[in-house]
Amino acid sequence: MERPLTKNIRPGEEPLSLEAYVRMGGYEAVRKALREMTPDDVVKMVTESNLRGRGGAGFPTGRKWSLAPKDDRRPRYFVVNADEMEPGAFKDRMLLEGNPHQLIEGIVVSAFATHANVAFIFLRAEYTLAARRLERAIAEAYAKGYLGRSIVESDFDLALHLHTGAGRYICGEETALLTALEGNRAIPRAKPPYPQTSGLWGKPTIINNVETVVNVPHIINRGAEWFRGLSRGSDGGTKIYGLSGHVKHPGSWELPMGTTIREILEEHGGGMREGYSFRALLPGGASTEFLLEEHLDVAMDFQSVEEVGSRLGTGTIIVLDGQTCPVGMLHNLEHFFARESCGWCTPCRDGLPWTERILAAFEEGEGEPGDLEILAMHTQFLGPGKTFCALAPGAMEPLKSGLRYFRKDFERHITEKRCPWR
Ligand code: SF4
Repeated sequence: MERPLTKNIRPGEEPLSLEAYVRMGGYEAVRKALREMTPDDVVKMVTESNLRGRGGAGFPTGRKWSLAPKDDRRPRYFVVNADEMEPGAFKDRMLLEGNPHQLIEGIVVSAFATHANVAFIFLRAEYTLAARRLERAIAEAYAKGYLGRSIVESDFDLALHLHTGAGRYICGEETALLTALEGNRAIPRAKPPYPQTSGLWGKPTIINNVETVVNVPHIINRGAEWFRGLSRGSDGGTKIYGLSGHVKHPGSWELPMGTTIREILEEHGGGMREGYSFRALLPGGASTEFLLEEHLDVAMDFQSVEEVGSRLGTGTIIVLDGQTCPVGMLHNLEHFFARESCGWCTPCRDGLPWTERILAAFEEGEGEPGDLEILAMHTQFLGPGKTFCALAPGAMEPLKSGLRYFRKDFERHITEKRCPWR
């Protein structure tokens, strides 16, 4: 099985230097794209590859690129969203720390395809090792002519800047990320207009996730058909799946898109810890709906996970065992989301702390029967379309499914006046 994204990543060791990366075939895609292809050729190839964005929403990458207006002579920007901060998500870290040149190569080709001459990497503040390694790799790439003016003796110029955020979850939302990059308080913007037409400083801007961008050089080198063939389903390529929670071997692995949850959990994660039973999992990070044992054979691709009522999200699975309180887990998650609300709109700013307080009361044995209805109402009031961005609706996803699947656990908290799992 091929693992194009991670084959040159050696955990615990220094990433490849530029010379070693080039020896392994690195920057070949830059030569090919900039010397032999037009930007439209690159967009066409990426569109045909069925590469879908790996940041959570799964928007087709080629289509996103082609939404930037043609014949627009204003400056354009290409931005990499590396603000990986959701609980349970850690897949991009391996790519950033393990092979920064692969990301830089992807950025050069993506910026070329989207007519951008300035690119930014917006990095999570806490990823200090990634920042150090990226800075070094960017300097190496400038020194050898893979960034800067006339890249590989073509007529394409690209300036690449590394920007470290101040550590707010909302900066991962693409429009809040742009506001932060412009030097303002990170609050999301109303869409439309979308960043493709009015992004950074009001100019056309394409924003892609780290894992999305590192796929691009491989598509250019090996073709769209090869890329589609890596997958077990209709979405092209491999996927980096993460696994955390109550499993024997938490970690992340690059596997064919569409690998089943059971394979990830049992073959790669080693199954549940000794003596612990499986209760549920969040398939795509903290802002997705719970799935149960009956869903273990679901393929981890965008459509299959959606068909059973959840989302692939970032593809990072969080597992809950039978001895851990699901109400406590939900309380932890809502605590995070309440703390990270940017405060711009009332349902999120006031509703999330209220949700968190009710869940805390359950954990303290002070839950009341009517609280379940109030929580259910919150999942509506803070649901899709009720707030400015997706933070609050995302926060409601685990709660909505938690109320459905763990109602008995909530009721035990009320009748026993304590948390039965403590
Ligand atoms: S939903 Fe929350 S995070 Fe998003 S804009 Fe509103 S207050 Fe801010």
